[in-house]
Amino acid sequence: MRYVRFETRAGEKKYGVLSDDKIKVIQGSIFEDHSITEEAYPLYTVKLLAPVEPTKILCIGLNYVDHAKEFGKPVPDEPLLFLKPSTSVIGPEEKIIYPPQTQNLHYEVELAIVIGRTAKNIKRAEALEYVFGYTVGNDITARDLQSTDSQWSRAKGFDTFCPLGPWIETEINNQDNLDIKLYLNGEVKQNSNTNNLAFKCADLIEYLSAIMTLLPGDVILTGTPGGIGSMQPGDKVEAYVEKIGTLTNTIALP
Ligand code: MG
Repeated sequence: MRYVRFETRAGEKKYGVLSDDKIKVIQGSIFEDHSITEEAYPLYTVKLLAPVEPTKILCIGLNYVDHAKEFGKPVPDEPLLFLKPSTSVIGPEEKIIYPPQTQNLHYEVELAIVIGRTAKNIKRAEALEYVFGYTVGNDITARDLQSTDSQWSRAKGFDTFCPLGPWIETEINNQDNLDIKLYLNGEVKQNSNTNNLAFKCADLIEYLSAIMTLLPGDVILTGTPGGIGSMQPGDKVEAYVEKIGTLTNTIALP
């Protein structure tokens, strides 16, 4: 199923399930017992929001061999973890703001895992039971600040630097074999498959849940493939993952 979070024309924020361009409203938390009601909205009448409100976004660096190579580094022996703040999240069609502190703003398409159950010290074999579903992420990066700062909080953490969406797909069981692409102004810039991930989704949940408790709604950005590059104000950026869909945003000045 496709779970969406959306805003009605009356300004109400709701969760729902999307099918045939129609959203049926959900009663209750999507991470607990919930029901699908008969209250419905045509998709074109609502604004889709980021499909989840994570307490934290856990990101993995250098997790595709070709990206590590273009970065001039080997794939690390263990997943390379950094965090993005919850305030960096935006939804589909929202503007990514080009901050004045950078001169080199980059896109990074990533498969995003949405955690469904509280997870601590979970072994790889059980890890996927803790996944609610998958969405698309764009790990927006101020590449120049990533080089000048030894910690990446600034380079990765500006407001609007974590577009997520357009929805959470819950019926994926081949997460390790999904095409992943990024288009800038309609031109393909990144083109790979999640089978090129060095550390797979289940590996990441084991590794991360041994460090910190993963809460329902938390998001893991699994890493980006090769082909990273710059964006300019006015550009349109489309992040695509097979079986999920396309997350579209534009770049704007503050
Ligand atoms: Mg990334």
